[in-house]
Amino acid sequence: MLNFTVGPVMSYDDVLAVAGEQVPYFRTQEFSETILENEAFMKEFVNAPDNAKVVFITGSGTASMEAVIMNVFTAKDKLLVIDGGSFGHRFTQLCDIHHIPYTAIKPECGHTVTTDMLNEYQNKGYTGLLVNIHETSTGVLYDAQMLGDFCKSQGMLYIVDAISSFLADPLDMQKVGADVIFTGSQKVLACAPGISIIVLGERALSRVWENETKTMYLDLKDALRNAERGQTPFTPAVGILRQINVRLRQIKRNGGANTEIERISIQAKDFRNKIRELPFEIVSESLSNAVTPLHPTTASAYDIFLQLKDDYGIWICPNGGDMKDSIFRVGHFGAQTTADNDTLVMAFKDLQSKGII
Ligand SMILES: *Cc1c(COP(=O)(O)O)cnc(C)c1O
Repeated sequence: MLNFTVGPVMSYDDVLAVAGEQVPYFRTQEFSETILENEAFMKEFVNAPDNAKVVFITGSGTASMEAVIMNVFTAKDKLLVIDGGSFGHRFTQLCDIHHIPYTAIKPECGHTVTTDMLNEYQNKGYTGLLVNIHETSTGVLYDAQMLGDFCKSQGMLYIVDAISSFLADPLDMQKVGADVIFTGSQKVLACAPGISIIVLGERALSRVWENETKTMYLDLKDALRNAERGQTPFTPAVGILRQINVRLRQIKRNGGANTEIERISIQAKDFRNKIRELPFEIVSESLSNAVTPLHPTTASAYDIFLQLKDDYGIWICPNGGDMKDSIFRVGHFGAQTTADNDTLVMAFKDLQSKGII
């Protein structure tokens, strides 16, 4: 199987090896050390301030989106939400469920958010901004620095869902002024799905401590108290946390976050060069290294996805909803190489020679 989706993606051999081991009991010094090491690597890789804290949530990325909304904000807040695709829209649904007032900013599909669009909301009492810095559904990377500068000028909390962007695009928590950054195990970390990771800065932490939160499983106060000693309130996905440890160590050994970002950027550029002759249009004006969103001009995107899966054993990522036939995405992260790009491009060319695209 060759997997070019946006997660789960192909894992490296070291991660697969630990995934094949028995899962150990976890209330131990050894496991606490694994968690504390994961925390240190996460802080290093996003350049978090020293006093930032990291929590590991057992649940996919959406669990962290919800945990942040429930623990950091209350009905007294007034948020701006960038709703540029299905993940941005999920933030608005979470705000609805938890009664957090918000205004949605809706850039057109494939387009980013500009300073002009934001300036409309200046000095109107907004207290925070929620953004999926790479809107994975449409392949648009927003400008983290510009959004951060806006939040700073307005005294707003800046929440960055970097689930598919962490380790694919540069992101410096201190430089952009993010209060919260979170990611998930099945994207660039290329481990099994099931863990999401939240890095919280000082301002977000004081919100968590002062807010009353009606949840047991996603209570970040409880998670933070346990995290002090490298533990979690409940049985976490122990096996995946061990996979993450192997993977974070591997990234560190290879040269750190920037080396991984560079590797993915090379994968992306290589793919984008190799598809120049194919009848595909790139549909984002601001690309992440993580994903290339493509509109096939001669065939249904969903049909191409099915053909590749069924006849070639290659997985690209279909889109849902009204983009099902018009857009598919190719992910550039996980254990893939430029030779794998060749295999994919050859399959596209084969479909072309058969008159399918
Ligand atoms: C993958 C992803 C999520 C979370 O999805 P889950 O299926 O809950 O892991 C959230 N936001 C973005 C930007 C994503 O790419």
